[in-house]
Amino acid sequence: MKMKIEEVKSTTKTQRINAHSHVKGLGVREDGTAEPSAAGLVGQTQAREAAGYLVDLIRTKRMSGRAALFAGPPGTGKTAIALALAQELGNKVPFCPMVGSEVYSSEVKKTEVLMENFRRAIGLRIKEVKEVYEGEVTELTPVETENPMGGYGKTVSHVIIGLRTAKGTKQLKLDPSIYETLQKERVEVGDVIYVEANSGAVKRQGRSDTYATEFDLEAEEYVPLPKGDVHKKKEVIQDVTLHDLDVANAQPQGGQDILSMMSQLMKPKKTEITEKLRLEINKVVDKYIDQGIAELVPGVLFIDEVHMLDIECFTFLHRALESRIAPIVIFATNRGRCVIKGTGDIVSAHGIPRDLLDRLIIVRMKPYGAEEVSQIIRIRAQTEGIKIDDEALQELSSIAEKASLRYAVRLLTPSYVMAQQNGNESVTAEDVKEAADLFIDAKTSAQMLAENPHTFMK
Ligand code: ATP
Repeated sequence: MKMKIEEVKSTTKTQRINAHSHVKGLGVREDGTAEPSAAGLVGQTQAREAAGYLVDLIRTKRMSGRAALFAGPPGTGKTAIALALAQELGNKVPFCPMVGSEVYSSEVKKTEVLMENFRRAIGLRIKEVKEVYEGEVTELTPVETENPMGGYGKTVSHVIIGLRTAKGTKQLKLDPSIYETLQKERVEVGDVIYVEANSGAVKRQGRSDTYATEFDLEAEEYVPLPKGDVHKKKEVIQDVTLHDLDVANAQPQGGQDILSMMSQLMKPKKTEITEKLRLEINKVVDKYIDQGIAELVPGVLFIDEVHMLDIECFTFLHRALESRIAPIVIFATNRGRCVIKGTGDIVSAHGIPRDLLDRLIIVRMKPYGAEEVSQIIRIRAQTEGIKIDDEALQELSSIAEKASLRYAVRLLTPSYVMAQQNGNESVTAEDVKEAADLFIDAKTSAQMLAENPHTFMK
């Protein structure tokens, strides 16, 4: 079977991570202390230092079977710091955020939701060395024959291309499917192209790699690329998550090996991901790891509102944490002591069972001060390319204090739209007020509902 790495459409939850795009790392110094403001993060220094310590534990492999808990009020940067921790581990380390209540879907089993997110947080880096034949096109001739089906017209039976490489010019007889690719990419005589030695995929220099088209060189009549003339070796690295592979292979036409599974990602058509399928994927993955083709990249699974999980979920998580392939799990909560869901009346710290609590490293998050809030909003404005007045910044900061930091940050874009409408080059306090009038925050909305229940639909 032929293998081929296609460009993968990743299933990362980009929406949720976009809000934290300014976060690039923990901003912790060599000696373990946190800069007041660095790598996009502001304040919360103790928690960032603790997270830096977690990074050390993970790197030195002393974290297995354990997990972390970020405890603190909402809007204290728990998600932001968990993401920063993942980034410290490496730039292709997967980060999968979820909320405890997500497991209560009417259609999918609770443990299935957890399993899916587990696999979203485990990366696989696949390395393949490809031999590429690189050269300048000196000739491009489609050869036509009568339509073999006896119909009208002619069809392209093969394509002759001349390729000038460092070792001289070669004429290659290639599959007709390549002709479409060459036409689509408007490859002309004089262009430099790559031809992959095994798959025969053709790429034009300086363009994205996504249009590579496979064609079969196995058929004897086509000239396989002469091994001895191979011009270059090119390493292709592909980062995917186990969940990406699950999805790809759940397609009806799914192939037998992960690489052909990946090519299926382009045509998503949902079928069920079964336990059997996952076991098979694990087997292939193990094989690739043994052969040195692939490497596991454990990422970070962030579970917010962990008190929303019930005892069944905790049992599942506990077992999963001990499995050979597990991501780093970071729980987050703003609860103190509460009942463990699904037990009726067993009270425990953070609503987490004792045996799991024993495995947790707990990091405490504190509310931000006014100066920190204003600095965070300023960073977000910069990231979104929005110019903002000092007074407007102050207005947003006081909104953050009254409502939430998240709401204040979300008001940046509508405030900017207001500013444009009002003909202001940078956002003014007035623009912010107008935007805040239009888009109420969750707290105010709940309050309005409570105060005027009769004016809303039941
Ligand atoms: P939590 O998970 O504790 O609710 P969060 O990380 O989701 O908090 P939000 O309340 O959503 O944080 O914060 C709003 C915005 O402020 C987000 O864009 C977030 O990245 C950013 N932010 C939060 N804390 C910090 C920080 N310490 N430094 C820089 N940006 C931060």
